[in-house]
Amino acid sequence: MSRVALVTGGTRGIGAAISIALKAAGYRVIANYAGNDAAAEAFTIASGIPAVKWSVADYNACAEGVKRVEAQYGPVEILVNNAGITRDAMFHKMTPEQWREVIDTNLSGVFNMTHPLWPGMRERKFGRIITISSINGQKGQAGQVNYSAAKAGDLGLTKALAQEGARAGITVNAICPGYIGTEMVRAMDEKVLTDRILPQIPVGRLGEPEEIARCVTFLASDEAGFITGSTITANGGQFFV
Ligand code: NDP
Repeated sequence: MSRVALVTGGTRGIGAAISIALKAAGYRVIANYAGNDAAAEAFTIASGIPAVKWSVADYNACAEGVKRVEAQYGPVEILVNNAGITRDAMFHKMTPEQWREVIDTNLSGVFNMTHPLWPGMRERKFGRIITISSINGQKGQAGQVNYSAAKAGDLGLTKALAQEGARAGITVNAICPGYIGTEMVRAMDEKVLTDRILPQIPVGRLGEPEEIARCVTFLASDEAGFITGSTITANGGQFFV
């Protein structure tokens, strides 16, 4: 029986590409999403991948959601923490709500989803936790103090949890994409994108969601069992760690 993979925010953007790539690689994939029912429905019709709705920012919803998914599809062996949001503002204008929403989704969301799945992975002595962080968690970004803090937190979580999971056969890794052509990035001011962002990317283009999805399928595979606590940087040469 093929392994079950759960992808948060798996119905749009990078997450949709990850869900589709994992399905093509032979996994049974379930895609979680937060609220965009129309996008989720269209995604399921097009891909045949079931979509399940809850917010990763809500611990109890995650615990219940995971229980429902496992009862229906079997143990989740691969978790992709992809769900993420931006609430950009310069720090002096950033509201506590903007700070909290981003931390709750992009950082606590990773805890909320990983924690209920962890005991089962430890018992079965196999697991793959793959978290989509960001270049802006590595280098920091003006206007994104909240986002940069959450994404940097994801990297710390990954490195610490990798040490806890190693003996139990669970690998914990992160991917730091640069700018990828999804709605999140296309929602940016066109002028900022062409005048400020693109010139910073040595390869001269935005990344494709599929380029991140391929990193995920590699980390999910049995062949990647010796890689844990690592970060794959995929940013077109924009920033070197
Ligand atoms: P999109 O905005 O295109 O899609 C985000 C997805 O996350 C949607 O499916 C959305 O669900 C889901 N989501 C948002 N909040 C929640 C929540 N609370 N609970 C469950 N699901 C949620 O984003 P991208 O594809 O661009 O980004 C995906 C990930 O990659 C994010 O973590 C982002 O920070 C990261 N990233 C993106 C980069 C880029 O250039 N695009 C660069 C670096 C990192 P719904 O459809 O219901 O709204």
